[in-house]
Amino acid sequence: MSPPDSNEVLIRTKKKAIKDEDGNVRLVGDGRRTIDRVEIEETFKQLQLNVDLSKLARLAEIRNDIEHMHPNVGPTLIQEALSDAMPIIRSIIVDELHHEPSDLLGDHAWESLLNEARVFKKEHDACRASFDEVDWQSVALATAAEEFRCPHCTSALIRNDNAAATNPDTLTLICSKCGRECDTEDVFEDALGRALEWEAYVAMTDGGDPPLESCPECQRDTFVANEKRCANCGFDLEGYKCFVCSAPLTVDDYRYCDGNLCSYHHHIMGKDD
Ligand SMILES: [Zn+2]
Ligand SMILES: [Zn+2]
Ligand SMILES: [Zn+2]
Repeated sequence: MSPPDSNEVLIRTKKKAIKDEDGNVRLVGDGRRTIDRVEIEETFKQLQLNVDLSKLARLAEIRNDIEHMHPNVGPTLIQEALSDAMPIIRSIIVDELHHEPSDLLGDHAWESLLNEARVFKKEHDACRASFDEVDWQSVALATAAEEFRCPHCTSALIRNDNAAATNPDTLTLICSKCGRECDTEDVFEDALGRALEWEAYVAMTDGGDPPLESCPECQRDTFVANEKRCANCGFDLEGYKCFVCSAPLTVDDYRYCDGNLCSYHHHIMGKDD
């Protein structure tokens, strides 16, 4: 959608002004660097392009993993990347550019794209369905379950192989891509961190309590602040009070003061000793 003769101004990071023979000034693209994900989203908004870009973040993550992780990781993620990119490519070509994808990309390329996306989606749906009977016992973990990744190859194709599992403790997590078993604690911690990334960022920049804390029982970063409960080991802070002043205990009170005194009274009692 960049105007003709603008050196693809919409996708270039740098722009420069030029003046034509008639004295008209316009901006054209400059340099080789292209805009990043956030700028792509911003540009789509400005141009009122009605394209669902929610998968773009995951695509950026995959590109990053392919670039920085072991070379074996790359191929396992390509199919997922194609599958995530498919709806974006399709809606840009069909809805915005008013073309047929097979005309623009060629029958062969478009067919393979559709096929890879289909295969991935089928496997992904099967993985998701393997968690149908699970009661996550935590809203945060239920949401994070959509973001499970294999700790070995980062694929999103994680399934539960214990059909009898009805709670998070009894899951047997297997990666359908690399075939390895995944430690549930690693998977939960990583997925919660990603699912609550934005809240953590806001808490850090605007002040406020972080959404996740280190659990005093399992030592994982899986204690969900607004649920007062650890989504990994189930440790529940609800009901823990200071036996002097009855104030509800914080995670730190519990961690450092034996679970029955607030930090203030722990301090006072310490003095009396
Ligand atoms: Zn894997
Ligand atoms: Zn815990
Ligand atoms: Zn107290």
